[in-house]
Amino acid sequence: MEISLRNQVAVVTGASSGIGSGIAKSLADAGAIVIVNHSSERSTDEAKAVLKEITDAGGKGITYQCDVSKEDQVIKMFQDTVSQFGTVDILINNAGIQKDAKFTEMTIDQWNAVIGVNLTGQFLCAREAIKEFLRRGIDTSRSIACGKIIHISSVHEIIPWAGHANYASSKGAVRMLMQTLAQEYGANKIRVNSICPGAIQTPINKDAWSTPEALNSLLNLIPYNRIGQPKDIGNLAAFIASDLADYITGTSIFVDGGMTTFESFSTGG
Ligand code: NAP
Repeated sequence: MEISLRNQVAVVTGASSGIGSGIAKSLADAGAIVIVNHSSERSTDEAKAVLKEITDAGGKGITYQCDVSKEDQVIKMFQDTVSQFGTVDILINNAGIQKDAKFTEMTIDQWNAVIGVNLTGQFLCAREAIKEFLRRGIDTSRSIACGKIIHISSVHEIIPWAGHANYASSKGAVRMLMQTLAQEYGANKIRVNSICPGAIQTPINKDAWSTPEALNSLLNLIPYNRIGQPKDIGNLAAFIASDLADYITGTSIFVDGGMTTFESFSTGG
């Protein structure tokens, strides 16, 4: 059994770092042409480095700077991708940020920034992707589905998170966005799912793993007793995007080393 995304075009948002870079490499390994998206000028070199790893391994793709929270930029990214590669088959809605604060001290800017990228960004990219899937229709030489969307959510779509109300709210809303799109476009053979990572070792949560004390305290939350790696998410994304997963839609899959079994209940409760 082989996971094949041969000749399919995948837009991976936030692919210059962390989980997005892991997903971009896994999709390219499976044969997809990958759009390595990033938002800032300062991450251009990182995006190029991800693309270089892909092309060095025989894969194909481009880098593309676009802020997913900006409607005009998202529309242009999809237009440019379709003009260059003909269509889009897979969207990985991964770009995400944290702006943490105690709730009573959270500013409107912190709230809007997180909702803007983590929720509105996922809405804008999903809308442009679905428009393109419907325009193209099913092409069985590419995939038996008309298109695939994978939202990168979080264990915090179900675990409340004190001090991170904006982030947890954005991920809870992504769950409903995903389920609604799966329901609305199931008859069009568009599959929509979420991957919910637990603790994955990336720059977004450096404080939680960069010292032995922090890592130990993090591992107390993870029955499988290791921190996750971007590849753990990339492996699943390649499978869900492939036709091997053709009957999977409208669901959240947790990749968390057991975090959502609520480890603290093993000795309490
Ligand atoms: P990361 O290493 O900080 O990477 C974030 C990526 O998103 C970067 O490529 C960044 O590029 C991009 N990005 C940020 N704002 C953007 C925007 N407005 N438009 C386009 N791209 C943007 O974070 P990560 O840990 O890989 O997180 C990726 C996703 O996984 C997020 O949705 C996060 O919520 C989710 N997640 C992570 C964990 C974890 O433990 N790491 C757990 C659960 C869920 P620029 O630098 O150019 O902005």
